[in-house]
Amino acid sequence: MRELELYIHIPFCMRKCNYCDFLSAPADEKSQSAYVEALKKEIKFYGKELKAGELSTIYIGGGTPSWLQEHYMASIMETVHKFFSIKKDAEITIECNPGTLTRAKLNSYKDFGINRLSLGLQSADDEELKVLGRVHTFQQFLRNYELARECGYDNINIDLMYALPRQNTEKFYHTLTKTAGLKPEHISAYALMIEKGTPFYEKYKFDAVRQEAGFQPEVLPHEDVVYQIGKMTEDVLKEAGYERYEISNYAKKGFVCRHNIGYWQREEYLGVGLGAASLIGGNLRYNNLRDLDTYILKADNIKECLFIDEKTEKKLPAVTLHEKAEELKRNAQMEEFMFLGLRMIQGIERSRFYQSFGFTVDNIYSRVIARLEAEELLQQNPERVWLTEKGLDLSNYALAQFLLD
Ligand code: SF4
Repeated sequence: MRELELYIHIPFCMRKCNYCDFLSAPADEKSQSAYVEALKKEIKFYGKELKAGELSTIYIGGGTPSWLQEHYMASIMETVHKFFSIKKDAEITIECNPGTLTRAKLNSYKDFGINRLSLGLQSADDEELKVLGRVHTFQQFLRNYELARECGYDNINIDLMYALPRQNTEKFYHTLTKTAGLKPEHISAYALMIEKGTPFYEKYKFDAVRQEAGFQPEVLPHEDVVYQIGKMTEDVLKEAGYERYEISNYAKKGFVCRHNIGYWQREEYLGVGLGAASLIGGNLRYNNLRDLDTYILKADNIKECLFIDEKTEKKLPAVTLHEKAEELKRNAQMEEFMFLGLRMIQGIERSRFYQSFGFTVDNIYSRVIARLEAEELLQQNPERVWLTEKGLDLSNYALAQFLLD
């Protein structure tokens, strides 16, 4: 049976954070209940009708999955267990927001095999949390973290965010050391992006342009400060025993996120829920409907259908919950292979590239590789190709070189 990763999207949050452009919104009890029923129908459809495969990882993301009452999550997981075969050693993660966890929820997650928590802390400074529009304080986070440990969770990620308004290296150092001091198994640290359509965009759009152009912004940190924060993050976490295994991800030995590695290695994944994306067979990409009411309505009668690819006008196999279906041409698959794979510190494996495309990496990219090597941005050996420290610092530039015409 083929292996598959499953992503389950829960598009609800207590309140929208000021910087967030994810598909998530507050919702009343009635909408939550109707959505969970629809989601279960989609899970059942793939598991029963399409016999989609054996799950190696499950990632329940959002939104704030931990905001749902435990009986909802229990019934979602019950459905997954009933209609899919799950590998014995599967990694099963749920995203949680501090302030939303209770002992009852944590125990219930365990009962359904959830063995990894991803906690969105972002900052250990309450003032910064307020600016971000987060619903929790650092103390609430600490209480939830301790509760999770008491309930026996031994694989916890903490999400952090830097390059926040008025942030300097000292402020992020405080967040980093407080976080590392708790000894979670995994830490993610992403730079804040100012996304269109968010309150932050309205407030900081001109500052973001100045920042990107290398001028002194008024409130956002200068790009040199952002660079220094990135370097400090690497140093502090290395000192604390974490290995950087992807541009923004650090783990203690044996605790890399298998679900995300699968994503960076272009393994097959099935996304269920509002707006969820899937990659099937390496070349078919699907996006689910993004409108909640339409999704709930259409989930009542899910069927296989044909979808016209906008670019190629080819008919693709799809289901009625899809909003978009696309067949990735071989060049697009190769580009993606390099973009995603080179985000990992180990880089890409030559043999996987050959297995996927029937060409060697050098057949396609020898000139780019030679140029980036001469610029000291990339290194290679007979097994792998990877970005150097300098290449990771300049990853936007380095990765863009792998675009094919
Ligand atoms: S909790 Fe996460 S998904 Fe929800 S609004 Fe905040 S950043 Fe967005």
